[in-house]
Amino acid sequence: MKNIFKNIIALIIFGIAIFVFRDSLLKSYLILQDKYFPCTRTISYSLGTVDPQFGISKEDFLNAIKESEDMWETAVNKDLFVYKESGGELVINLVYDKRQENTQILKNINNGLQDNQSSYNDLKNEVDTLKREFETKKSIFESKVISLRNRQGTYSPENITELNRLQTELNDYIKRINSLVVKVNNRASSFNNQAKEYNTVGSELGDEFEEGLYHSDKNGKYIDIYQFENKQKLTRVFMHELGHALYLEHVDNSDAIMYRLNTGVSLMPTIDDINALRAHCGLVKAK
Ligand SMILES: [Zn+2]
Repeated sequence: MKNIFKNIIALIIFGIAIFVFRDSLLKSYLILQDKYFPCTRTISYSLGTVDPQFGISKEDFLNAIKESEDMWETAVNKDLFVYKESGGELVINLVYDKRQENTQILKNINNGLQDNQSSYNDLKNEVDTLKREFETKKSIFESKVISLRNRQGTYSPENITELNRLQTELNDYIKRINSLVVKVNNRASSFNNQAKEYNTVGSELGDEFEEGLYHSDKNGKYIDIYQFENKQKLTRVFMHELGHALYLEHVDNSDAIMYRLNTGVSLMPTIDDINALRAHCGLVKAK
């Protein structure tokens, strides 16, 4: 009797322990499942904080995640992730800091540089056209001077009036050309200043800044996105971090999604990415 009572107490305590620790037990169970039976379950994800300073709507942000999710799932023909309105195992945040701020500054300077470059080119073309017109007028003037002098030796008042008119026209050309040259030089120096600023801000960003980060702690798993230039780069960052969430490591191919830097342009995983995932899932390598 005493023993039965003891067992019941033990069972109750065990039951309470499971109830109290059910979250962490479930987490440990999922970690073991991921380790010993990889790719056999879907990882649920939810959106955390999406900072409005990025200027991207939650909807577009989510679409970029779903696009990245599809790329991996197609590669192994398996359901790997599933979106959950709230309470997902993986929380995805868009975190605004110096990285995105500098990216936006760089983008603005770059646009300014391009405007400056095109208005510099326009001015330069204008100067070249004026110079050509000037040369033509100048040779007309010179041949006129010679022909008038040859015929008569002196100039009639009409000749002088015409030569004066041509001379004034030539002087006007010189004035216009000179004032344009000043403008061209101003453009060039403002172009140089912008280029200097671009380099300063660019060097603050460093070479290997993190655009995103996958991390986990006792409370859960997270993907934090810090920086992206355009939607294509954003999708690539997601794919990369989702890859880490699938326990993928970096690969050496610089075009790959799982390369340590976001240097590639394609939204398709490379053969190295696909094979990394296939190997992880225990599937035959693709060729
Ligand atoms: Zn990485």
